[in-house]
Amino acid sequence: MDLLERYGHVLDRLNTACAAAGRPRQDVTLIAVSKLHPASDVAAVAAAGQVDFGENYVQEALQKREDLAADAGSAALAAGIRWHMIGHVQSRKAAQVAGAFVLIHTLDSRKLADGLEKRMLDAEGRQPVLFEINIASEPQKSGLMPADLPALTDYVLERCPHLDVRGLMCLPPVFDAGDAARPHFAHLRELRDGLRQHSGLPLPILSMGMSGDFEAAVAEGATLVRIGTDIFGPRPAKTPPLA
Ligand SMILES: *Cc1c(COP(=O)(O)O)cnc(C)c1O
Repeated sequence: MDLLERYGHVLDRLNTACAAAGRPRQDVTLIAVSKLHPASDVAAVAAAGQVDFGENYVQEALQKREDLAADAGSAALAAGIRWHMIGHVQSRKAAQVAGAFVLIHTLDSRKLADGLEKRMLDAEGRQPVLFEINIASEPQKSGLMPADLPALTDYVLERCPHLDVRGLMCLPPVFDAGDAARPHFAHLRELRDGLRQHSGLPLPILSMGMSGDFEAAVAEGATLVRIGTDIFGPRPAKTPPLA
């Protein structure tokens, strides 16, 4: 299959998953995860109608966007793309990401919240964010431990008026595992429901599900699914300067 066939196949699977879950298709947004793939592939998928794209590495993301905007063939398409930051963000890079993405999926510390808040205060804007949850409380993994979620939410609500908390995101501990990931997705939804009660925020977004497990995520209420490999193919190895 070529790129556009793979993209079409993912759209078909997403339609099927929504129908199986009894959910309207427009309740679930596909984010095409283009990390480590060239700007030309982004342009091709955008030309086929894809609007939301996700990137993991700050430098790579900003460079790719510049390249797309600079190319006469893709500049108009590039202007319509909604970029999501889905990778871990070091707090020293907060100023580079704040205001540059429609949604930052990976807020997981006070330090990062402070950095984003400072930049958005200066820019006089508001940054939509999700909390990234370390859903199985795995040591060594980024993301907020579930037990720490209420305290960080309170902190952001009190101290970070320029951050707009929209929901939760997770990467389950099992990859490409289909239904084996489903209890983790259910857990994220339950955490979201609890945080709604705790905070009074509507928290409409659940960002969960990747190439190998997005059908299970849709069944558990995902509103954003992040799909890379099944659209763009296997990723080339990451070369060091991109970080
Ligand atoms: C890379 C990545 C994805 C996409 O994963 P695939 O298995 O290639 O679909 C989704 N979410 C995050 C956070 C990622 O880093």
